[in-house]
Amino acid sequence: TTARAMATQQLENADQLIDSVETFIFDCDGVIWKGDKLIEGVPETLDMLRAKGKRLVFVTNNSTKSRKQYGKKFETLGLSVNEEEIFASSFAAAAYLQSIDFPKDKKVYVIGEEGILKELELAGFQYLGGPDDGKKQIELKPGFLMEHEHDVGAVVVGFDRYFNYYKIQYGTLCIRENPGCLFIATNRDAVTHLTDAQEWAGGGSMVGALVGSTQREPLVVGKPSTFMMDYLADKFGIQKSQICMVGDRLDTDILFGQNGGCKTLLVLSGVTSVSMLESPENKIQPDYYTSKISDFLTLNKA
Ligand code: PLP
Ligand code: CA
Repeated sequence: TTARAMATQQLENADQLIDSVETFIFDCDGVIWKGDKLIEGVPETLDMLRAKGKRLVFVTNNSTKSRKQYGKKFETLGLSVNEEEIFASSFAAAAYLQSIDFPKDKKVYVIGEEGILKELELAGFQYLGGPDDGKKQIELKPGFLMEHEHDVGAVVVGFDRYFNYYKIQYGTLCIRENPGCLFIATNRDAVTHLTDAQEWAGGGSMVGALVGSTQREPLVVGKPSTFMMDYLADKFGIQKSQICMVGDRLDTDILFGQNGGCKTLLVLSGVTSVSMLESPENKIQPDYYTSKISDFLTLNKA
């Protein structure tokens, strides 16, 4: 048995965990907020960690917004967070293309929302597609053929509420017919919580459509892939053993932390319950779990 297979401990001494790392990476939805609502005790907890000199980083798989748009969301919720501390999977797609020196004279076809377009634009990449293609329809008349641009060198797929058959076909043509065309996914979350009334089909559903049609596997830049972890460890010069990853989802957040060799803390303020954690089906065991991050303020009396 490896250390990973050891049972998760309920967090009892927060100071010990806090003192053992330099950086906290917080997942956003389910940890900092739930939809548009701030989770109880978050501002005080972040203030306490900053006062102790900890570096705070925020990572979200939700690609619909850019870092700048998330900066506004933090501000609206009364949290002072610098754009440089936010890593959304929309930004990860642009950062990945930069990291491989994706040519500026090639184009990116985007299946996704505004966040991805804004980040590509900021990074100086040319793109097409995005929400506008949601209005396009295909005329199924005899002999109809869809044209596509041959200088598309990458297809980026993220969560897209304007997803349609046009986009599937366009992205498929680029991936199958343009030599060397990359297939990049911002994330593959099965479900999201657009409203708390039910679970909604997540970004993994759009990615899955293209996997089905191209028979290719995408390169994932969001959690749980190591791309963002490597990127931010490099950017801030942090050792991964000095990071605690805090998240509410086992198969994205906790796996992301484990893939990076970080300490991991599961919070129960989002989508995972203790019974899911303890289920025999679950193979992902965080180091610790606790109900919400503001437990950091109260679990210090060891
Ligand atoms: N993708 C979408 C479209 C979402 O709405 C959400 C959560 O609201 C997520 C992904 C997951 O976000 P996070 O990684 O912050 O939990
Ligand atoms: Ca989450």
